[in-house]
Amino acid sequence: MLFERARGVFPGGVNSPARALKHLAAPLVAKGASGPYLYTDRGRLVDYCMAFGAIILGHAHPRVKNAVVQQLERGWIYALLTEEEVAYAERIKAHVPSIEKMRIVNSGTEATMNAVRLARGYTRRDVIIKFDGNFHGSHDYVLVKAGSGAATWGIPTSAGVPQDVIKLTAVVPYNDVDAFVKTVREIGGRLAAVIVEPIAANYGLIIPDREFIKALREETERVGALLIFDEVVTGFRVGLSGAQGHFGVRPDLTTLGKVVGGGFPIGIFGGRADVMDMVAPSGPVYNAGTYNAHPVSVAAGLAVIEELEKGEPYKIANEAAERLAKGIEDIAGRAGFDVVVKQIASMFQLYFKRGDVKTPQDVRESDEKLYLKLHELAIKHGVYLAPSQYETNFTSAAHTRDVVETTLAALEKAFTELKSQVGK
Ligand code: PLP
Repeated sequence: MLFERARGVFPGGVNSPARALKHLAAPLVAKGASGPYLYTDRGRLVDYCMAFGAIILGHAHPRVKNAVVQQLERGWIYALLTEEEVAYAERIKAHVPSIEKMRIVNSGTEATMNAVRLARGYTRRDVIIKFDGNFHGSHDYVLVKAGSGAATWGIPTSAGVPQDVIKLTAVVPYNDVDAFVKTVREIGGRLAAVIVEPIAANYGLIIPDREFIKALREETERVGALLIFDEVVTGFRVGLSGAQGHFGVRPDLTTLGKVVGGGFPIGIFGGRADVMDMVAPSGPVYNAGTYNAHPVSVAAGLAVIEELEKGEPYKIANEAAERLAKGIEDIAGRAGFDVVVKQIASMFQLYFKRGDVKTPQDVRESDEKLYLKLHELAIKHGVYLAPSQYETNFTSAAHTRDVVETTLAALEKAFTELKSQVGK
């Protein structure tokens, strides 16, 4: 069996933990993908994971494929400046004006790591704030979790993270203005940066209050710290100008990834020109990479942005998410479950709980076991939902009305079976 072989060569049999799908007998094995579908060892599934948000036009989109093939014909790496990467960056800057200059790297993890280093280099301060339940990739500065209390310091989420590194990271409850303001006042002039997911998509989907986002901007400005929006998920997904456009707040630095690489590896950190000019070779903050601005990722990303500029892909993807959110609430209600669905643009998540979901604590209070049972039943009926209540579902421009209605019919069956399994 493939999983046995995989376990012989990879820790836990996978190359990233979220692929383990521990609630299933074995991880899903992918064989192909096209439009809204994943082809797997368990048959064709309508995909709502969409590579954790990297795909927005649909899998194997012909325009993206074409751009990549054309690039391949010209060779695929030069490690020199190209005209394409300049055109690509100009396009991004036009849509996200807070990004006056940028550096193109290879993953969201690299982007946030470099943004934090840059903020520390620019401010000549060491302390950063991050938020409970926000995920910024897998590097030492941000692998810090929340303890109990308004703000906590230095509890690693991973073995191997030096205490000396993360004792410089305060973790504050997300979407809690009072806790945030109090913490900034305590840290004061030692604060280099605040890094935040302006819409949190790695702890389920949590849409913060506008006043929380405004407070981030006001308080960082007051103490001379930089505000970093981690828009690896939300950039070019919540519209062309991302979550910062949605909230009308201008951060000092932004990180991008996922959508802007069209499914190929990419990360970007960018922002105020005076801050970005601190990056090597124009300044003393070091970043370098053999694969930086990889021509294939740039070609794919540019094709995606050009498609998104037409508007139609957003319309289809957003309508799909809206319809699913409403439909799932109805289906769950009919089956007798208390379910809350949160949705914004082409993202949604459902929680087995009463009341609203506005904080990571609300997500923790949802019934995870029911979610995982539903996830397994949905696969049986041909739908691949986000693999945990702590992830987010994504729609794409390939999730047409027919696909959505087929999904809802499948979920109706899944909820009915769930009801009989748990004896409702
Ligand atoms: N930041 C956010 C908000 C993310 O969702 C992720 C990945 O899920 C990252 C950073 C890390 O990006 P990557 O997986 O490309 O390293």
